Amino acid sequence: MNIFSHILGFPRIGSKRELKFSQEKYWNNEIGINDLINIGKKIRKKNLKIQKSSGLDFVCVGDFAWYDHVLSNSMMLGNIPKRHINLNKNKIINIDTLFGIARGFSYKGNLSHASEMTKWFNTNYHYIVPEFSKNTSFKFIWKQILEELDEAITLKFNKIKPILLGPVSYLWLGKVVDKEKFSKLELLDKILPIYKNILFEFEKRNIDWVQIDEPILTLDISKKWLESFIYSYNYLYNKNLKILLTTYFGNIYHNIDTIKNIPVDGIHIDYINSKNDINNIMKNISKDILISLGVINGRNIWKSNLKKIYEDIYFIKKLKRKYFISTSCSLIHVPLDLSLEKNIKNSLKKKFSFAIQKCKELSLLTKSLKESNKEILDDNLLDNSQKNNLNKHFYYIKKNDFCRKSSYKIRRKKQKKSLKIPILPTTTIGSFPQTKKLRNVRLQFKNKKIDLKKYNLEIKKYIKNVIYIQEKLDLDVLVHGEPERNDMVEYFAQHLEGFIFTEFGWVQSYGSRCVKPPIIVNDVYRKKPITLKWTKYAQSKTNKLVKGMLTGPVTILLWSFCREDISKSIVSKQIAMCLRKEVMDLENAGIKIIQIDEPAFREGLPLRKKFVKRYLSWSIEAFKISSSSVKDKTQIHTHMCYSDFNNIINSIIELDADVITIESSRSQLKLLNCLKKIKYPNAIGPGVYDIHTKNIPDVNNIKIIIRKYIKTFDINNLWINPDCGLKTRNWKEVKKSLNNMVKATKELRNEI
Ligand code: GLN
Ligand code: ZN
Repeated sequence: MNIFSHILGFPRIGSKRELKFSQEKYWNNEIGINDLINIGKKIRKKNLKIQKSSGLDFVCVGDFAWYDHVLSNSMMLGNIPKRHINLNKNKIINIDTLFGIARGFSYKGNLSHASEMTKWFNTNYHYIVPEFSKNTSFKFIWKQILEELDEAITLKFNKIKPILLGPVSYLWLGKVVDKEKFSKLELLDKILPIYKNILFEFEKRNIDWVQIDEPILTLDISKKWLESFIYSYNYLYNKNLKILLTTYFGNIYHNIDTIKNIPVDGIHIDYINSKNDINNIMKNISKDILISLGVINGRNIWKSNLKKIYEDIYFIKKLKRKYFISTSCSLIHVPLDLSLEKNIKNSLKKKFSFAIQKCKELSLLTKSLKESNKEILDDNLLDNSQKNNLNKHFYYIKKNDFCRKSSYKIRRKKQKKSLKIPILPTTTIGSFPQTKKLRNVRLQFKNKKIDLKKYNLEIKKYIKNVIYIQEKLDLDVLVHGEPERNDMVEYFAQHLEGFIFTEFGWVQSYGSRCVKPPIIVNDVYRKKPITLKWTKYAQSKTNKLVKGMLTGPVTILLWSFCREDISKSIVSKQIAMCLRKEVMDLENAGIKIIQIDEPAFREGLPLRKKFVKRYLSWSIEAFKISSSSVKDKTQIHTHMCYSDFNNIINSIIELDADVITIESSRSQLKLLNCLKKIKYPNAIGPGVYDIHTKNIPDVNNIKIIIRKYIKTFDINNLWINPDCGLKTRNWKEVKKSLNNMVKATKELRNEI
């Protein structure tokens, strides 16, 4: 029996982020188009070689993207937003069009804004949202997929498997830009012929299998959408080319009644997320259909327990069916190469597996299955669970531990008395401009070019200056400015036990942006205070209130790679206990306002409704464990970088933060409508201007916005602040904007 191995996609950023650096150079006119194209070529060739030399049977084409694979698909189908078509002199669609859609484009003073970007399912990858209108026309103009296929053929790779984002998922992921609503499915008939044409081109090149990604089959989708799969794949059927319908990020059993009728040659299943239903799923799918089992986890960095997988799936050898063995999803969600890491202890390193290592695991597993020989699977690899120090460091938490002592009403009175701040208090979200100089100070300290004394001096200088500026602006609640932090999660992880860090473990977040998530390898606990020193220092420089600034437990957890031997719920509580102690230390040091940021709270929502309750239950608990030990008169703030609370407003209320500041200056209406409906009981600081643009908000505009807010909320519960942190702005912009914000507030106070 033949079993073949393949992956669903390989990281495209290059082992040292070559793609990022060359993209950015190209955007800055430091290199030309040919240099950029050559870097892409090199990365693709290397990726193909890695797959081949790892012993995988197939190599992938179509997983490379200049910015984002959904955007590539829009280009392929000629779905270019109108405002981006006519920008070039000759109206040519080229790579600048692609970058223009992704980043915005200005030509002779006309700005064509970028397309929206949003999260790719429940990952930290973001895609460019396709735009559709009823009369969008499509045309196969961007032939990247064929060019890259021909490139791989020329390089003499055989068994090449092209990858396409499927037509139904593509439509589902986009948004309607027409004023009048229409069903995106109406566009199916326009895009299917293009897909068919591309499949025909594959067939001409003697391709055996094509991978067509339809990840929305793992979601709760309506009957209408489900049925469109049958229609589409009937249309796409090609007797000389085999289609592998590819699903990931979840189980498909709930949609099996439809899936079993989709006319394809193979189905890829995310085995990691559907172990319990795998037999039921397979029973439903006709024996002639090949099954690709995604057994190697593409979402985490732990080495697989190959012997266990072998034993679990050995039964497939006895069934009369063809199989592929694969990763659960594309490997773009993990770092590229573990062997680059020189600073991770060997005892730990041998428990990890990055993209290259996962390819090797896969081919070894396939070989052992083919030969029915599990002895070639190393015994050492068996145990990837971490040593538990649970008893020593985990705290058993009682219900009372995660509720504030009194209700908000009572707290509000006490806080009013203790804090003595004016009506419509002004504040900021935490960070101030991260200047070149500041980044350099941290870098030099990290590289041991300056010593601790000098580093501390520089940080103090920055804080002192930030306090001075805020006093001059006459803000009411000040912050220390976060100069010591590179990244809001990494900083806390570095000061807690249980995390480790990679040197090159980059994962693409969007376009040229990559993140390097910390890895949770052990129980998390706090040896000593994290933010106390700098917060105290800032407070010592002013008579005004300084607000302490922490990253919340849910965000720290979700932006790290998590261990798998205990549940996320437990890990979140461990982190929460550390923050709880930090909060207590700050309170004891006389800090009266403490902000706990949770920008990841909403993005952690599971994809399927049936898992939402469980997630909300542990994430709310974690936040409350962190925040609820304080006295009534201590004020807890939280911040979230979005305002679309429609589905989670009750959970936001449950968090019971005294004040929530949110990003709403771009979507006031949405927020106002939602909060009007449900009377939000605690205080709120809906941003009064958008920090994401360079524009300086003028006093009158800010006043108009605040007046709107006053109409909706109890004025005594309203805070005035920008809509997010200021670290990406420069000082000039920040000073002008905040000055206008304070001025507008003061004028309004006088009018009331
Ligand atoms: N306190 C953080 C800052 O101001 C919050 C960051 C965020 O909203 N993601 O930078
Ligand atoms: Zn924010």
